[in-house]
Amino acid sequence: MTRDLFARHRAVLPDWLALYYEDPLEITHGEGRYVWDAAGNKYLDFFGGILTTMTAHALPEVTKAVAEQAGRIVHSSTLYLNRPMVELAERVAQLSGIPDARVFFTTSGTEANDTALLLATAYRRSNAILAMRNSYHGRSFSTVGITGNRGWSPTSLSPLQTLYVHGGVRTRGPYADLDDRDFIDACVTDLKDLLGHSRAPAALIAEPVQGVGGFTSPPDGLYAAFREVLHERGILWISDEVQTGWGRTGEHFWGWQAHARSGPPDIVTFAKGIGNGMSIGGVVARAEIMNCLDANSISTFGGTQVTMAAGLANLNHLLEHDLQGNARRVGGLLIERLRAVAAQVPHVREVRGRGLMIGVELTRPGTDEAAPEAASTVLEEARAGGLLVGKGGGHSTSVLRIAPPMSLTVAEAEEGAAILERALRSI
Ligand code: PMP
Repeated sequence: MTRDLFARHRAVLPDWLALYYEDPLEITHGEGRYVWDAAGNKYLDFFGGILTTMTAHALPEVTKAVAEQAGRIVHSSTLYLNRPMVELAERVAQLSGIPDARVFFTTSGTEANDTALLLATAYRRSNAILAMRNSYHGRSFSTVGITGNRGWSPTSLSPLQTLYVHGGVRTRGPYADLDDRDFIDACVTDLKDLLGHSRAPAALIAEPVQGVGGFTSPPDGLYAAFREVLHERGILWISDEVQTGWGRTGEHFWGWQAHARSGPPDIVTFAKGIGNGMSIGGVVARAEIMNCLDANSISTFGGTQVTMAAGLANLNHLLEHDLQGNARRVGGLLIERLRAVAAQVPHVREVRGRGLMIGVELTRPGTDEAAPEAASTVLEEARAGGLLVGKGGGHSTSVLRIAPPMSLTVAEAEEGAAILERALRSI
C-alpha cells in the first residue's frame, strides 16, 4: 500500500520533494513521543519535535481545543475581532522580552521571515540584508535569497542584495582554530569590513543555533557583539527562532538569550512546533518597527481561530509542565550518553547541542570530509531499530539531527540512545 502511494507521489508531486529512506515511511498516527506507520510498526520519534510536534504527539489539550474551535467558527483571521489571536499575541508579546512588542501571525516560518524582511527593508528603506553563511530561512523568493546554505537554495536570483557573514559555524571555516573570544573578535572585524564596503543594510538575520545547517552554534555572545556594531549604524537584528524558540535549547526560552548581554533583538520570528501541528508562524517587533508599513495588510489564514486555539493550549501545556526544564535535563543526559558512544565510533566527529537540539556530525574517519553515506546508513538502521532521526548540515547532509518532542522522558532518551548506538556501530 505504501509502495503504491510512493509511486503516486512520484507521479504527481515535484521531484525536489526528497523523502527520507529508500522505502519511504507513511506515518499514520502518533501518541506522546511515538509514531506508527501504515504497517503498524512503532517508532520513537527523535525528529518530529523540531518540525511540528513541540510538546507531544496528539496532545489531548490541543486536540480538544482544535476540535472545539473548528466546530464553533473559523472565519477571517484579521477582518473581525479574533479572541484566540489576541490572547495568543498577548502571551507571545509578554514572553518575547521585546519592549512595546507587537505580534503578527503567519502560517509558516518562511512567511514569518518574509514578513520580517518586509518590515526591516521598509523601516530602513534598504533592500540589502546581512545573513549568516550556512543559514536556512525558508523557501519563498526572498528567504531563499538570504539562505546561506546553498544546497538548500534552489535559485541564485533574489529580490534582495545579500551579504554573507562568518560566525554561525564554530568548528569549520577560517576561524575554527581560534578560541571563543578571538573567534568573536575575528567575526566582528569581518562584519565591520563588510559594512565598510556596502550600502547601509536593513538588517542582520541569524539563527542562534543553525537548524538545517546541522545544529551548529557560535560561541555565546557573538550576536551581542554583532549587535553593538549594527546598532551604531541603525541596522536591525532579526533572530530567526523558528527552531530555537520556546525553550527547546533548554538553558534559554529563546536562542538569542545566549547572547543577551545587550538586550533583545529588534525582530523575532517563530513557527514550527508552537501550534503542535497547526500552521502558526509569526513575527514580534517593537511597535515602531511593526507599524512602519503604510498599507492595510491582512492575512486570510495567518492567525485563524483554530490554529490560535491550538497554540494557546500547547503553550499552556509547555509552561505548566516546564518542558524547557525537561529539555535541559533530558537533553543534557542524552548529549552525555551520545558523547560516550561517539568516543567509540570513528565516524563521529562531534556531538553538539543545546537542550533537545542535538547534532551528531559524521565524517570519514580521521578527516574533515563529510560522510553523507554514513548518515544515510545510520538513518536506515535507526529506522529498522524503531527510531526516527533527521539529517542536516549543508549540501552533503552529514549531520544527524535529534530533536524529539520536548516531553521526552529519561527512559525514552535511554531507549533512543541505545538504538542510535547500534545504528552508529553498524557504519
Ligand atoms: N527558519 C528556520 C530556522 C527553519 O529551520 C525553517 C524550516 N526548516 C524555516 C525558517 C522555514 O519554516 P517553514 O518550513 O515553516 O516555512
